Formats: sequence, C-alpha cells, structure tokens
Amino acid sequence: MHFKKLAVVTAVLLASRSLNHACHAITQGGKTMKGTIVITNKENVKIHSYISPEDSTLVSTQIIETKHELVVVDAQFLRPYAREVKAYIAGLNKPINRIIISHSHPDHWFGLEFFQDVPVYSLPETKEEIEKLGDVIIQSKKPVLGDLVTDKKYVPTKIIAAPGKEAIDGVIFEFERIKSAEAVIQLLIKLPQAQVLVAQDLAFNRVHLFIGQKEFKSWMQIAQSMEALKDYSIILAGHGEPADSKIFHENIQYLNDVMEIFLKVKTGAELKHALVKKYPAYRGAVLLDISNSFLYPQP
Ligand SMILES: [Zn+2]
Repeated sequence: MHFKKLAVVTAVLLASRSLNHACHAITQGGKTMKGTIVITNKENVKIHSYISPEDSTLVSTQIIETKHELVVVDAQFLRPYAREVKAYIAGLNKPINRIIISHSHPDHWFGLEFFQDVPVYSLPETKEEIEKLGDVIIQSKKPVLGDLVTDKKYVPTKIIAAPGKEAIDGVIFEFERIKSAEAVIQLLIKLPQAQVLVAQDLAFNRVHLFIGQKEFKSWMQIAQSMEALKDYSIILAGHGEPADSKIFHENIQYLNDVMEIFLKVKTGAELKHALVKKYPAYRGAVLLDISNSFLYPQP
C-alpha cells in the first residue's frame, strides 16, 4: 500500500483546554479527516490521540511524539482509519521507533498491515493470541466488513517485558501486565515524567464499555487501583478521547450497574436497552452488541 506524503496538515482549534489538550479538525491535502485528533502537550512529550468515528467504535491510536521519534500505541480496526493514522503520522516527519499493541482485540491490531516496516511490540500473551486466533477473527469479520478489514494477520515480532521500564528517546516508559479486565491480558503503559497513563481498553471515555469478557468485578478492582495512582493527570482511553482520572470513577459506576442489570435480565437485548437508557449520552452502543455475542452466544 502506497501513501502520498501529506502536502498540508492544517489544524483548526476547536475546543477544551481544560486537560491541557485541544481537539483539532485536521485536513489532509484539503480533505477533512473522519477521525478526531486530540493533542496533549507535556514537557517531554506531545501526544496525538486519534479517535476513529463511531462506526469503528471510537477506538483510539496514541501517537507519542518524543524529541526525535514516535511511539505508536494500537493500530486501528478499519482500513480507512488506519490509513488516516498512517497519513497523519507521515505529516509529523519523524520516524516511528515502534508500534505497541496493547491487547489482542482486533480493533487494536487489524490496522497493522499499514505498519509493516515498523517493529511491532506486545506482551507475549498478546502475540500468541494473535498468532493463534488472528486468521479465525479475520474470517469472522470478512462476511460483514469485506474490504474494510485486513486480509491477513500481522503478528507482533518483539516482546515487551512487564513489569519493565525502558527509556525511549529520553522518555521513560513503564510497562505493566494487567489480567482479567476488559480482556484476558492487557498492557498498561505509564509515562511517569509526563504524568500520562496509557490505559487503552482498561478505560473507556463516555463510550459503552466492552463487557464480553465478563470480568466485571476484577475490572472494577483494577480501575480502583488505577484511580488511586494520584500522580497521573491524563488518562488515554482505548475508546473515546483522553480524560482525567475521573474516568475511573465513571467506569467503576458503569461496571457496578452492569453487574446489577446482568443478574436481572435474561437477554442481551434487555441488557443493551437498560444500559443505553441509563447512559443516554454514551456513544458506541454497538460495543454492547459485540459484548452480547460473547455474553449470550447463539448456539
Ligand atoms: Zn479491547
């Protein structure tokens, strides 16, 4: 796949400075991007968060810009949005040091086909899972999504040691392995100097949570322990825009509601109806349909 280098990247300031970041409507060569970019400016890093449109569940890619390089976290799901990320990155004019895949859910790694020239890192369990189940997942998506999704899996080639710590271009990255939350195994990345937590799918920002893993209680406890990390002021969510640490309280409340409702209802439709009613401002209700395919599997 060939990409035209960006001729023009213009950013128009749209909103909120409250979290020391701003929303930008980005145009590339005169074409407005479909995804949203939110920029977080910190002393030693500038983070460009790309959030896909709702038809791809507002899934995020984090582009962590250091002095000379870029570290990318997660690769998008649908081809048009992975392509947008790739084009946006080209406009930053810095080499990609690596791409890190936070966990094995397909909305975070399908777009790897656009990063074939870059080292791809993940936890060993994530690499194994993509290796083992990647083809089956792609084949399960193809009948509905066709050419919108990758034809082939691209498996991470480099392993992240967690717990672990690494300085990349002068920025400290701390890696932790989290079990039994939104997925079986997930990577949590801390940037202690910038006070940024790259939570990815450990946190959802006003987007319906993916609850198909059914680890409601365990995820709540993990959210509580992340909430207790008072040193982190910016939380990068896996779905939705960057947030502050209130996101954990909101996610805990949501999971608490899920636990109560799940015990009362008999069908996925009832569960979805109750959560959409309780959280009318939340986006990405399609995540509840995906959750329901796991919680209430069809024979
Ligand atoms: Zn996920």
